[in-house]
Amino acid sequence: MQETLINIHTHHPTGRPGYLEVENLRFGQEESGLSSLCTAGLHPWFLSETTLEVGLDWLRKQASRPTVIAIGEMGLDKATITPWPLQMETFEQGANMAETFHKPLLIHCVRAYADIIALKKVWKPVQPWIFHGFDKNNQVADMLLNAGCFLSFGKALLNDAQRATTALFHTPPDRFFLETDNADVPLEEIYGKAAAVRAVSLQQLATQVSLNVQHVFGLGTANSAI
Ligand SMILES: [Zn+2]
Repeated sequence: MQETLINIHTHHPTGRPGYLEVENLRFGQEESGLSSLCTAGLHPWFLSETTLEVGLDWLRKQASRPTVIAIGEMGLDKATITPWPLQMETFEQGANMAETFHKPLLIHCVRAYADIIALKKVWKPVQPWIFHGFDKNNQVADMLLNAGCFLSFGKALLNDAQRATTALFHTPPDRFFLETDNADVPLEEIYGKAAAVRAVSLQQLATQVSLNVQHVFGLGTANSAI
């Protein structure tokens, strides 16, 4: 039997059969209706002091819905113009919400890996933290993995830089996910590359990701429940 391919982070679900797509919702965004599961977060690119309270109310409502399986993407980004204190305040609120609602935190991070890991050491969250769109070297991967975090890989697996493929090769089997994010790349291409990198069959890879989704997101038996 063909294993379901799970995409843990997409802004463009396709609704195709045989795929489980987790649609990401940003503040105020409506679901497309093409996928049964989503994540909801306040992205650091789209924050403003004046809408923070209403944004947090929206997020609280989203977080309480059973089909919202993680809080995110939330995070810290040193390449965006959003003021750092506002990013920090929002990220902390999101991390707290992940704890309150017992759901993992899906993280957007640009040049703030050490900052986020330092916060994790202080806050000691119980919920899993997942860095999405991972495209850094093994040293950064090690820092995150050693801190108990998970990595999600996407289109960077297909580029020539080979940082993402090297990091995926290096990541323990129970600590990674796959995603398409914003990219116009078929999910099966990402799975195909990931299977080649890890030297496993597509079937084995899909089973592994299903197990990881089952453990980390607490979804029923990943493939029979879909
Ligand atoms: Zn995204």
